[in-house]
This record gives sequence, structure tokens and C-alpha cells, in this order.
Amino acid sequence: MKITRITTWQRKMPLIEPYWLSGGRLKFEQLDSTFVRIDTDDGVSGWGEACPWGHTYLPAHGPGVRAGIETLAPALMGRDPRALGAINNLMDLTLPGHPYVKSAIDMACWDITGKVAGMPLWMMFGGEQATPVAVNSSISTGTPDEMIALIRRASESGYRVHSAKIGGTDTKADIERIEAISAALPPGESVTFDVNRAWTPAVAISVLNSVTARDWVEQPCQTLEQCAHVAARVQNPVMLDECLHDFTDHLNAWRMAAGEGAKVKPNRVGGLTRAKQIIDFGVSVGWQMHIEDLGGSAMADTAAIHLAAATPDAHRLASWLCHYHLADDPVPGQGARNNGGFATPPSTPGLGVQGDEDILGTPAAIHEA
Ligand code: MG
Repeated sequence: MKITRITTWQRKMPLIEPYWLSGGRLKFEQLDSTFVRIDTDDGVSGWGEACPWGHTYLPAHGPGVRAGIETLAPALMGRDPRALGAINNLMDLTLPGHPYVKSAIDMACWDITGKVAGMPLWMMFGGEQATPVAVNSSISTGTPDEMIALIRRASESGYRVHSAKIGGTDTKADIERIEAISAALPPGESVTFDVNRAWTPAVAISVLNSVTARDWVEQPCQTLEQCAHVAARVQNPVMLDECLHDFTDHLNAWRMAAGEGAKVKPNRVGGLTRAKQIIDFGVSVGWQMHIEDLGGSAMADTAAIHLAAATPDAHRLASWLCHYHLADDPVPGQGARNNGGFATPPSTPGLGVQGDEDILGTPAAIHEA
């Protein structure tokens, strides 16, 4: 089986409402997603999606995905998409770094491999059944009352786990947010306070040692070293996110005891193949993980839900579904959706989500052998 064509589409997907991170430091209104279809000489096609969360969140952006695929495509022509290890090594040789560029290609190759094997991706990843995965809300920064109102609204949609975005220059406001939100949580619900790198170590230590709440705190500071410094000096378990880009970062995080868990996002680490390697490592060292993508439609969300469903319960925390924030749904009716606080991966072979070319319209590029 050989890759004969790689087609890309650009899709600008507006958010239902503006989204604020880090105490209002970062604002997001629209995502620039790239959909990819890989065709083979056997007539089997696979789909993938790469959608960075804007261009200010991480060193990744939509135009970079498409430019990177243009660079990778000639090397991929004629290669067997089922040889996932070889495909990923080839991509790293052809374009070192730029992991966010590679995730849609890797996803489409997994889709093809699952279709050929007649197995859904959750089974390809070692899962025994299509386990429903708890989903978590994502609560934009605001006043404590605004944030509690958003949590109540999410609870009504079935969410029992919430990710509340905090972190600003006003440490008193953050202390108030943490205490008010933690105290307002209905029984059976939990929250992670996601700082998105906004604090210095001194602020993190001061805030977290001032609050009584012992909920998870995510990515309190910019770097892995800073997070490790904080983790050694606070009682809250620390979840790592933006400082983890490749396997070595995860290994170093564990060596430095920088946290008790990690967010595993295929687009950030280069695709499902690399994410699976990291999840296996996380399971080995006893981490708890949120497995979700950086952004995207129900296609990218579904790929991450396949991975999450194949991860042992004890190591899997809730997954966020980006597509609930979008005013656009290019794969209507397909994929893993929130159903009473849980999302179940499809059991059809492969990814179980197909791009709709009528909806996607004119391709951004067609690369052929
Ligand atoms: Mg985060």
C-alpha cells in the first residue's frame, strides 16, 4: 500500500464566544484548522485534522501546518501509511521539530491502518472496549461569580469535571477565584485550576499556600524547572501542560518530580503515535493524564478520545472536547460527543470520522506523487 495523494483544506472555525486565558492576558475568537485526506493506491483513504489553539498559545499556527505538510508531502509519496514508526521517523528526518505539523498526517495514517485492520482506533491502541470517557468543561477567566455561573451551566450539560482558567497579575483575585469556586462545587464534581503559565514561582507558592483548596493546579509557571520548584513547595497536586513538547520533556518532568500528571495533546507532541508513547510512559510512572487535543472539530477530539478510551481508568482523567466551543461543525453528527458528561469513541474501523468535502469546499492544496 502506497500514499498517492495528500489533500489539505483550511477551515476557519469561530468560537461561540471569545475565550480568555491567564487572567485576560490571551484572547481567542477563531481557530484555523487544517483537514487532511491521505489517499492510497489501494483506494483506502484516511482523515486527519491539525488545529493549534490560535497562534499566541504555543509556537504553532494554522498556516505553519499547511506549509509544513507541503514540505513533508514529497517525502511521504509512495510510502506505506501503515508503517507508522517509519512514517514518523521519515517526517522527523524531513522536517525536524514542528510537531504540530505532523499530527494530522499521523492521524490520517492511523485512520487508514485501522480501516485496513478492520479495527477502531481504541482497539488499535490496546483498548478492550469503547470505554465512555468523562469529559471536562473549560471555564474562561472571569470574576468568581461569572466563573461559578459557567460551571453551573456546564454541570447542567452533564460535566462533572471542570477546568477553571485563572492566573493573573492580581494574586488576591486568584486566591478569591480558587476559594470561591472550590467551595461552590456541587458534590461529586471536581475542578482543576489551570494557570496557563501566568504565575512566577514566588506568586504560585504564595497563592497556593494561602488557599485551603487542595484541587489540582495546572501549569502554574512558564517552564518545567519553575513548575518543579513550585511542586516541591505546595500541597496541591500539579498537572503539567504547555511545557511538555516531546518525550524527553516528559522524562525530565518525572525525573524532576515536577508534577503528578500531564496533559497529553496529540497536536502538541506530533500526533497519536508520539502521544501513545507518552501515555505508556505516564502509566508506567503512575501519572494521571488528561488526554485531549489542542483544538479542532469533533474529528481531532475523537482521535484523542480513542486514545483516552484505551488508557487504564486509574491513569485517565477527564478529556476536554474543543468542538463544544465552536460555532462551526464541519463533521456534523459524527464522532465522540458529550452525552451526559461522557464521550464514547466510534467502533467503526479507523478513526470513525470522515471529512465532508461538500462542507470543506475547495482544497487548500493537493499534493500528488
Ligand atoms: Mg492547560
